[in-house]
Amino acid sequence: RAAFLLLTTALASSAAALTDQATAEAQARALLARLSVDEKIGQVTMAHFFRFTEGGRSAPIAANAAQTFGALKPGSLLNGGGDTPQPNTPRGWADFLAGLDTLGRANLPQGIPAVFGTDAVHGVNNVPAATLFPHNIGLGAAFNPALTREVEQATARDLRALNTAWTFAPVADVGRDPRWGRYYETFGEAPWLVADQVAAAVTGLQGEGVAATLKHFTGYGLPSLGLDRGNAEISARALHETFLPSFQAGIRAGALSVMANSGSVNGVPVHASKSLLTDVLRGELGFNGLLVSDWNDIDRLVGTFRSQPDLVRAAAASVNAGIDVYMVPNTVEAYQAALKEAVTSGLVSTARLDEAALRLLTFKARLGLLDGPLTGSGVLEDHRTLAKKAAAATLTLLDNPRGTLPLKTGRVLVTGPAMDSPAIQLGGWSVNWQGVGKGNVREVPRVTTLAPALKATAPAGVTVSALPEGKRPQLLAAAKGADVVVVALGEPPAAEWEANNPSLTLPAEQLTLLRDLVGTGKPVVAVLMAGRPIVLPADVQVELAGLVMAYLPGTEGGAALADALYGRTGFPGRLPFSWPETAVQAGLTADRPPEGAGQAPQPLYPLGYGLDYTTSAAREVTATPGPGGVTLSAALTNSGSRSGTVTFVVRAVLPASGALQAVARPVAVLQADLKAGETRRVTVTVPNERLQSWIGDAFGTVRPELLPGTYTLIAGDGRADFTLP
Ligand code: BGC
Repeated sequence: RAAFLLLTTALASSAAALTDQATAEAQARALLARLSVDEKIGQVTMAHFFRFTEGGRSAPIAANAAQTFGALKPGSLLNGGGDTPQPNTPRGWADFLAGLDTLGRANLPQGIPAVFGTDAVHGVNNVPAATLFPHNIGLGAAFNPALTREVEQATARDLRALNTAWTFAPVADVGRDPRWGRYYETFGEAPWLVADQVAAAVTGLQGEGVAATLKHFTGYGLPSLGLDRGNAEISARALHETFLPSFQAGIRAGALSVMANSGSVNGVPVHASKSLLTDVLRGELGFNGLLVSDWNDIDRLVGTFRSQPDLVRAAAASVNAGIDVYMVPNTVEAYQAALKEAVTSGLVSTARLDEAALRLLTFKARLGLLDGPLTGSGVLEDHRTLAKKAAAATLTLLDNPRGTLPLKTGRVLVTGPAMDSPAIQLGGWSVNWQGVGKGNVREVPRVTTLAPALKATAPAGVTVSALPEGKRPQLLAAAKGADVVVVALGEPPAAEWEANNPSLTLPAEQLTLLRDLVGTGKPVVAVLMAGRPIVLPADVQVELAGLVMAYLPGTEGGAALADALYGRTGFPGRLPFSWPETAVQAGLTADRPPEGAGQAPQPLYPLGYGLDYTTSAAREVTATPGPGGVTLSAALTNSGSRSGTVTFVVRAVLPASGALQAVARPVAVLQADLKAGETRRVTVTVPNERLQSWIGDAFGTVRPELLPGTYTLIAGDGRADFTLP
C-alpha cells in the first residue's frame, strides 16, 4: 500500500492534478456567498469569445473587452468550431486566453476568472499548427483504450500549454446509425466497448489537468433517419442497455462535466427533460459535476422545438430540468434577462440558481483556476510520432482477395481526391468547424498525405507515380501502364448536420472514377477516408483487388497508410461497427435482436472484422464466474509469418430473459501484440453489469437482472459456456 501511495503521488506531481471535490466545494461555497444574484446569473452563462475580440486573423483582444466583461459577466467562454476570427499561432492562443483570464479576474471583486472551453476532439483541432489525431471512430477500431488515453494525455498537455483547462470531449454517444453526421465522432456502435474508450479518454485528459465533457447526454446516437438532432425513440430498456453505459463509465472515471443532447428523446427535448438530466444523470448515474447545455439549445426550445412559449419559460424548464450552465453563446443579454425574470417570479428558485453557480465554481476550483492566473507555455509538443502510431493502429483491411497487398514490386499509380488532401484526411472539426478550407480563411495545417508518403518511402523495386483524377484520359492510360492502382477516396469534410450521409455513399464523381479504374482491368486497391461505412456499388466492389478503411486518420494518416500498404506494418484495426450491405441496412448492429420472421440479416462485414498480413486465432477459451464478473481467458495465437496485433471482440449470448435479447452482445476485447507463431494466454474480466438484462414491461420501468442460466462467451474461433445458478 505504501508503494502504491508513493507511485500515485509521483504520478500526480508530474501532471496538473485536480483539486479534490471536498476542498474545491468548500472554496466554491465561500465565493458563492459573496456573489449577487446578477453575478450568479453571469456565472451560469457561457458566452462566445468572439464578443471580446477585435476581429481579424490574429484576433487581438478588443479595446472594449473589459466593458464587455462588465456587461455580460460570463462565467465561461467558448470559441465554437473555429469559424470566427481566432488566433492563428499557439503563442497567440495562449496570450489571447491569458488576456481573457486576466480580464475575467479583474471583472469580479472576488477575482473569479471565466473558464474557457473548446472542442479539442482529435487533438487541439482549432490551432492550425497542431498535430491532429485520428477521429474517434478510428480510435474505436484500434480497440486499445491505453492508446486513447495516451492521445488524450497529449491533447491535454497541448490544451494546458494554450491556457485551456476544459475540452468538450470525449463524445460518449454510441453510433447507432451510420448515416448520422456525427458518427465519426463516436468510438463505434457497441455500448460497452465505447465505455472503455470513454473512460480512457477521461482519465487521459483529467490526469493532465483538463476537464473532460461527456457529450451528448444521451440518446444522441440514434437520431431518426440518421438526421443530426432528429428525435430518438428509445425504450427504457434500450436507454439502460445502450445509451447509459458509456456515460456511466465516464462518470466513474471522474468526468467533471457533461453536455446535454441537443436533440429530443421520445418527443421531449433533452434540454428540458428532468427525467434524463436529473433523475437518470444525477440520481441513477450519480453524477455530481457540471451539466452544460449544448449550443443555443435553450433558445431552441422556443424556436426549433416550439415546446416552450417564450425564453423565460424555456430558461425555467431547462434550468429546472438540470442544466447548470447555458452555452448561449451570442444572445447573452437576452438570456440573462430571461433567467433573471424566471428567478424573480419564482419560476426558478434561488436555491436552484445557487446550486448551478456552485457547481461551476466548484468546477473552476477543481481545475485550480481560482488559485492563480494561467501560465501556459504557448508551445505545442511535436506529436507526429504518436499521431502516426495512432493512425497505424486504426487501419483496417477489408479485402485483399489476390494478395495484391503488400505492394512489393512494380509500377504503382496513385490517384483519387483523397491522395493529397489535408481536408479529407482530417475531416470535420479541423481548423474550422466544417474542416480545412471550409470557413474562416486560416493556415492549412501540415499534413502527411498518401501520395507523397507512397512516393517518399517506396521500397526498392516499387516505382510510384501520382496523377490527379481530373485528367481522365491521361489517368486511364497511366493506369493501363501500371501494375497496381491505388485510389484514395473519401467523404468531403463536414460536421454535424452537414455531415449527414443518408445513402452512405461517396460523391458520384468518385464512384465514376472507381468504375473507370476497375474498367482498365488492372488491380485496383481502394483506400477509404471516411467517417462511416461506405456502401460501394456491389458490381464494382467485387472487382477490387483491395479495400482499406482508413477512417479519418489525422495528420500522419498518409505516412501510416504507406507503411501498411508496403507491408512495413500491418493492418491491426478491426471494425468498431457493423458495415451494412446497403444503406437500407443502416442501423444493423451486432447486438440486434432476432427477427420475428426468423431472418437474420447479416452485415457485409461484421463488427470486429479486419484482415491482416498475418493470421490469428483465439482458442482454449475458459470462463470463470466470480463475485463481480466473469474472468475470461483465451490463448491468442499469431498463426502467420509476421508480427502483429491480434484483436478479438468478445460477444456474450445471454440466457432467455422473457423479452427479445441481442443475438450476441459485444462485452470485451482480447488483444495482444504477438510475434509470428507466438501464442499467449490473455485474461479479461467481464463485469457482471455487462451481462445483465434490463427486465420490465415495454412501457414501464425496467430493472437490471443477472439472469440465472447458461451464458456463452464467444471470442474469435473459441467459445466458453458458463452457468449462473
Ligand atoms: C455541438 C457540440 C459542441 C458545441 C460547441 C455544438 O454545435 O453539438 O458538440 O461542443 O457546438 O462548439
